[in-house]
Amino acid sequence: MVADHTAYSRWNDEYVDRDPRDLLAEVYQRYGHEVTLASSFGAEDVVLIDMACQVNPSPEVFCLDTGLLFDETYQLIERIQSRYSLRFQAYRPRQTVAEQAKEFGEALWLRDPNRCCALRKLEPLLRALDGKTAWISGIRREQAPTRKNAQLVEWDQSHQLIKVNPLAYWTDQMVWDYIRDHALDYNPLHDQSYPSIGCVPCTRPVKPGESARAGRWAGFDKTECGLHEDEG
Ligand code: SF4
Repeated sequence: MVADHTAYSRWNDEYVDRDPRDLLAEVYQRYGHEVTLASSFGAEDVVLIDMACQVNPSPEVFCLDTGLLFDETYQLIERIQSRYSLRFQAYRPRQTVAEQAKEFGEALWLRDPNRCCALRKLEPLLRALDGKTAWISGIRREQAPTRKNAQLVEWDQSHQLIKVNPLAYWTDQMVWDYIRDHALDYNPLHDQSYPSIGCVPCTRPVKPGESARAGRWAGFDKTECGLHEDEG
C-alpha cells in the first residue's frame, strides 16, 4: 500500500492529547497487516504490546534477536508470548556470534560497535520491515536528546515507511504507572538500575544521576544502534 502522507501527518494534531490506543486503533484500521510493532521488550514495549492487543486481536510483533540479549530478556519474551495472542517473529543476524568472530575477530562490539550493530540489528531490521507500510516503536521524547523531536507519526526516510511512536509524549512516570496499574510483566533488570536494555556486552547499569541511556555503549560516542537514526 502506498502511504497516504496527508492522512497520517494529520494524526499528529488529532491524537496529541488522546490515549495512545486510539492512535494504534487508527493505524491498524488503515494499514492492517502491513503494520508491525518493533519490540526490544523494554518497559515501553510491554506497554505498547498490551495496548496493541486491546485494539487488535493478534498484532504482529517482532524483535531483533542479536544472539547477545540478556537471559532475563529471553525469559520475558517467552512469558509475553504465553500471555498474549501475538504473531511474533524474531529476526536474527545472518551470522552467529561465532561466525562473526571468525570473519571480523572476537568481540567486534569492543572495536567497531557501529559495524556490529549494522550486522546484528540493522540488516535484520530491513528484513523485518520488508513489505510493510508502517512500523510502531516505543521511542519517547524524554528518553534521550536524540529523540527529543520524535513525532507520534512520521516518515521514516531511512526505511521509506511510516513510523508510529504512540508513546512519544509519555514520561517515565506514565510508563511505569501503566505497568503497575495493569499488572504487566516486565524485565527484572529494570529493577537493577538498567533503564535501557540491549545486548549484554553493550549494556551496563546506570549510576545515580546518569541519563537513562548512559548504560548503552559506555565508553563510545554512540547512543543509538541506528534503528531510530532519523530522530534528532
Ligand atoms: S548493541 Fe553491541 S553487541 Fe549488540 S549489535 Fe550493537 S554493538 Fe553488537
